[in-house]
Amino acid sequence: MTVASDARIEFYPLRARILSVRSAHPVTPRMIRVVLAGEDLAGFRTDNFTDHVKLCFPNDETGEHVLPRMYADGRWNMREPGIIYRDYTVRRYDADAGELTIDFVAHDHGPGGRWAMRARPGDRLGVMGPRGTYHMDYGFDYFLLGADETALPAAARLLEELPRDARVRAFFEVADAGEEQRIDAPDGAEITWLHRDGAEAGTTALLEQALRTAELPEGDGFAWCAGEAGTLKPIRRHLKERGFERGRNLDVDGYWRRGTANHDHHADED
Ligand SMILES: Cc1cc2nc3c(=O)[nH]c(=O)nc-3n(C[C@H](O)[C@H](O)[C@H](O)COP(=O)(O)OP(=O)(O)OC[C@H]3O[C@@H](n4cnc5c(N)ncnc54)[C@H](O)[C@@H]3O)c2cc1C
Repeated sequence: MTVASDARIEFYPLRARILSVRSAHPVTPRMIRVVLAGEDLAGFRTDNFTDHVKLCFPNDETGEHVLPRMYADGRWNMREPGIIYRDYTVRRYDADAGELTIDFVAHDHGPGGRWAMRARPGDRLGVMGPRGTYHMDYGFDYFLLGADETALPAAARLLEELPRDARVRAFFEVADAGEEQRIDAPDGAEITWLHRDGAEAGTTALLEQALRTAELPEGDGFAWCAGEAGTLKPIRRHLKERGFERGRNLDVDGYWRRGTANHDHHADED
């Protein structure tokens, strides 16, 4: 995430964990909530809505999880052979209950989506990170959010954590009406659900059109958008034209790219 004016980066101590599934159930027909637990969760930290972990999935044939080695200087290399990892948002962490919650989009195109669709209590998962956090600046006059379903866990977490009097204009693109979720948002938050209604994920301009025509509240806003990288390009350009500035009040993050396995979201910034 790009840092807003008063936001600051904090790095967490790095640790590789193996956790077990405590429960797995659908939030909507295409979103699966997996609650992870285990002794390894001790010392887990997360402070902000874009915090994410690298989940290490088991090899389909051996059932083994390959986790990266931790080097003496505290670094790791996720690209070592055998590691099957993908980025997922920390939807919720409950230290008292010892539970880490991740919301997975259910799809069968890759190991992440497939693992989630089959997850059962007792299954194990490798969890790396979060590497650190960007402390959010809540001092903006309003928040403008755009997200597809992969970014909905982060957006929903932000809506839950914002002050209750925050002004929010949010646009969420999902497959259809059945994918709308109940979110504990600030009282004045205006949320618009956009339905693909049959179109494939990552192929529509629904978010772009909605953001282009959105009337924004008065004052200095913070814009955050995440989803399929290709669909975000014109959105990034448009928001810059509207005066949002990367590094101050604009963060547009490609969470996945159609046709690419394990898209590197750091590669997208322009
Ligand atoms: C910071 C960050 C946080 C994220 N948080 C979440 C989260 O909380 N929940 C979540 O579900 N995802 C999240 N994602 C997105 C997730 O990492 C990607 O969707 C990832 O590609 C899924 O891995 P996979 O193994 O299922 O598919 P991959 O093996 O990576 O990809 C295989 C194929 O599937 C396609 N594909 C990938 N994702 C989707 C999708 N959602 N719908 C349709 N086709 C797809 C790819 O384009 C590719 O063609 C996040 C990404 C980032 C960078």
